[in-house]
Amino acid sequence: MAGAAAMRPLASSSVFAALRSAGRRTLTTHRPSPLSSSVAKEAIRPVLPRQVFQQTFRRAYADVPPKTEAKKKGFRFLRWTWRLTWLSAIAGLGYISYGIYQMRNPDDQPAPDPTKKTLVILGTGWGSVSLLKKLDTENYNVVVISPRNYFLFTPLLPSCTTGTIEHRSIMEPIRNFLRHKKAAVKYYEAEATKVDYEKKVVYIKDESEIKGDVSATEVPFDMLVVGVGAENATFGIPGVREHGLFLKEVEDAQRIRKRIMDCCETAIFKDQSEEEVKRLLHMVVVGGGPTGVEFAGELQDFFNDDLKKWIPEIKDNFHVTLVEALPNVLPMFSKQLIEYTEKTFKEETITIRNKTMVKKVTEKYIEAESTGPDGQKQIERIPYGLLVWATGNALRPVVRDLMSQIPEQASSRRGLAVNEYLVVKGAENIWAVGDCAVANYAPTAQVAAQEGAFLARLFNNMAKTEQIEVELKNLSDAQEKAPSKDVRDQVFGEIKELQKRLRRVKQMGPFEYSHQGSLAYIGSEKAVADISWLTGNIATGGTLTYFFWRSAYLSMCFSTRNRILVLVDWIKAKVFGRDVSRE
Ligand code: FAD
Ligand code: NAD
Repeated sequence: MAGAAAMRPLASSSVFAALRSAGRRTLTTHRPSPLSSSVAKEAIRPVLPRQVFQQTFRRAYADVPPKTEAKKKGFRFLRWTWRLTWLSAIAGLGYISYGIYQMRNPDDQPAPDPTKKTLVILGTGWGSVSLLKKLDTENYNVVVISPRNYFLFTPLLPSCTTGTIEHRSIMEPIRNFLRHKKAAVKYYEAEATKVDYEKKVVYIKDESEIKGDVSATEVPFDMLVVGVGAENATFGIPGVREHGLFLKEVEDAQRIRKRIMDCCETAIFKDQSEEEVKRLLHMVVVGGGPTGVEFAGELQDFFNDDLKKWIPEIKDNFHVTLVEALPNVLPMFSKQLIEYTEKTFKEETITIRNKTMVKKVTEKYIEAESTGPDGQKQIERIPYGLLVWATGNALRPVVRDLMSQIPEQASSRRGLAVNEYLVVKGAENIWAVGDCAVANYAPTAQVAAQEGAFLARLFNNMAKTEQIEVELKNLSDAQEKAPSKDVRDQVFGEIKELQKRLRRVKQMGPFEYSHQGSLAYIGSEKAVADISWLTGNIATGGTLTYFFWRSAYLSMCFSTRNRILVLVDWIKAKVFGRDVSRE
């Protein structure tokens, strides 16, 4: 009978009774007992209600028939999964914290060594920063010159125009980055105005608001890398610079954001005519390349998710139009993705005007020549409130000037023609990377980054080669002066070893671009992707591609800080919506 009673689960009243007594025990002060000290310690340790709870239940269910083996295994699996999850979360947090600590506490750096060759790098964009990332700065006296003292992650710039992402989240101060290099690097916030390749001098000018005693000077170089990117192409079309907004820099995105809000607020100003309301709320994007398409998609999202909610008066007149001179948008993507993009835009109510070339821009309208289905051309006026001009790249004046000095560059139109080692043709000791260089690749961040990384390897190898050659010369002198045959043989062995190393270092192949694919956001949480896969290509579009687009760009962000900020911005925009204030 006693056994049967023990098999019965403890009634809830007995549990509470046990708890009550435990509570009493917890609060009671124990008198010292004559027991041995360890037992005494055990006796006076207060028993916590949780422990009692566990003990009581363990006792109460001790005789309940055992669970099946499968259930136990399942439970064990869950318990381990749970533990592993926790462990990996803690390890991940530790890794990130250590990274942040290292980022915030840079080590002391040796000063630049002026006795070493001076390597001047122009620009702080994709090409130059990728070079700096991998360059061993101890090998050269490195000087960086750029009017922008930060790196900008351009692929997410269209998202800044509508406040999906804050611009600071995609900027990385160049100072933070340079402070982590092995040897210090000099940075001058200035524009290169001219390169004299024969004198080996770069002329620089401080174009920022604050200027000291010297605002223009010259910097001599032994080696020069030109990575100044490109400026916006306008093809000399009148009125573009005066009335259009570009999308290349952070200030451009800020200007666009302000203009969108200004147009919306002005459109609902008291007594505005209907025609004027329509004009103000007509957002025109010229250029159906990826910049124009991504911006149009972001703008329509902004309207759908936020603007029409907070300013319902603009609901019926807000309209986005994309104007493209060619028969279709996104010419670099595969046919099915072009069709998918055009279909998605139609659903989003974005109008695409293909075969329409803008010829003139005035303050309130653009004049465009469109070709009808019958091949007939006609000129029409399209009124606009916001005009974003995204028609590709043009040469920067400093690049054009350098090209004009070098006869071998006479036939190049789109930028500095370079050879397979990225050396500017016709100029010694000058290399070019990114959008300002012409090497038969599209002007993309991917190409610029790979070119920069290639140059870093090349320069590291060149420094190693020089170092080995000096060592070889010293060894050869030592061999001549060797006092005995044994010593001579030993030095000869070292020379052979070094020569082998020298051959290995010198064996560096030319630059080869590896295309990873193209990605573009097209709005309403959809993206298109042409991805290189094994020997073929995968073309995909839709919401899954959008998640891929987001994770790819998040992983490509410059630093952990950028990654965290971008992620927080996305969450913020999803939870609270985008900010519709004008600034
Ligand atoms: P940039 O990155 O433009 O850098 C040029 C640097 O030179 C800047 O620091 C600038 O301040 C500096 N500079 C300018 N003039 C001078 C001077 N006179 N002297 C010294 N320094 C100077 N590509 C992709 O592959 N994927 C994308 O998703 C993508 N999205 C994009 C989105 C937008 C909105 C834009 C505009 C471009 C995008 N691109 C993308 C293209 C990509 O940004 C460029 O191909 C890339 O920036 C080129 O790198 P770069 O180093 O040549 O020039
Ligand atoms: P783009 O050169 O790719 O496209 C510009 C478009 O403007 C062209 O299609 C051209 O036909 C059109 N155009 C030119 N003049 C016109 C006129 N007067 N009227 C109407 N249309 C006109 O330019 P982009 O989109 O600024 O891109 C520049 C570079 O940056 C490209 O190499 C691009 O691949 C790269 N980029 C890539 C991405 C991405 O991969 N997601 C995003 C942005 C930019």
